Amino acid sequence: AKDLGRNNFQFFTDDMNAAMMQRLRLESAMRWAIERNEFMLHYQPQVDVITGKIRGTEALIRWRHPEFGMISPAQFIPLAEETGMIVQIGDWILRTACAQAKAWQVAGLPMRVAVNLSARQFHQGDLAETIAEILEQHDLPPSLLEVELTEGILMDDTSQTASVLDKLHGMGVQISIDDFGTGYSSLSYLKRLPIQILKIDQSFVRDIHTDPDDRAIVTAVIALAHSMKLRVVAEGVETPEQLAFLKEYDCDMMQGYLFSRPVSGDDVLSLLENDTRL
Ligand code: C2E
Ligand code: CA
Ligand code: CA
Ligand code: CA
Repeated sequence: AKDLGRNNFQFFTDDMNAAMMQRLRLESAMRWAIERNEFMLHYQPQVDVITGKIRGTEALIRWRHPEFGMISPAQFIPLAEETGMIVQIGDWILRTACAQAKAWQVAGLPMRVAVNLSARQFHQGDLAETIAEILEQHDLPPSLLEVELTEGILMDDTSQTASVLDKLHGMGVQISIDDFGTGYSSLSYLKRLPIQILKIDQSFVRDIHTDPDDRAIVTAVIALAHSMKLRVVAEGVETPEQLAFLKEYDCDMMQGYLFSRPVSGDDVLSLLENDTRL
């Protein structure tokens, strides 16, 4: 047993120690981040492919740590999910996004905001009730809120997820599937659940004008969506060529650096003001 202990100890190389230390530091920093006001939301416009007008936005979290600098959500969201901290952070995200959508509405430019949900948020209390309470608190019309779910969320639960989604849909909240086609799930949930929007993952959009497989997938997803009366958003649109393809195949909306990076709520407002002046 002693030997095994020693071997185990040696198994942790310096690199692994560093990675674990980094993880622990990130984890404890995250516990303070809300109180210390280190999180903020940026909003990326979603644009009508034909008219170029802004139809909605997606809220994306940003974390500026005083010592570590900007930390990417791809880095800390998975950790927040593992540790369960996503529940508290997710609540902050919902409240902040709804407050922002209310501010746009009050400014005379009502605009929908899409919020990314994580699986954990579905298992903690009654998510539909929480959302109803937040909407009421901010006096926000439910149609100005959208929730983005991944196929992973829909895979691991059954009746609870369905009942939350039915309640949200009943209230008028929009429901979209994020990264559509990248999860290991069947398509049967499209029949069972009240979904309005499919978001085509950027991995299918990137090489759209060179890779025949990507073209086939994107056109098939658009056809599937439209035959089920769903709207389609293409993500990660960076070039005019990609946009031209999406236009030709009747994609409804696009989101990507070609139009705008994720920006502050105030910057969205100036984009909207310019939009209406045209
Ligand atoms: P996602 O939900 O698929 O978000 C889209 C990501 O693509 C965002 O990265 C966005 O900034 C980036 N993006 C947008 N347009 C382009 C483009 O034209 N080209 C390229 N290369 N990238 C583009 P971000 O903000 O770093 O977020 C990464 C992931 O972290 C998100 O993927 C989402 O899974 C997660 N995440 C971000 N914010 C939140 C949040 O508020 N809550 C939760 N639960 N997850 C979040
Ligand atoms: Ca998303
Ligand atoms: Ca996505
Ligand atoms: Ca993604």
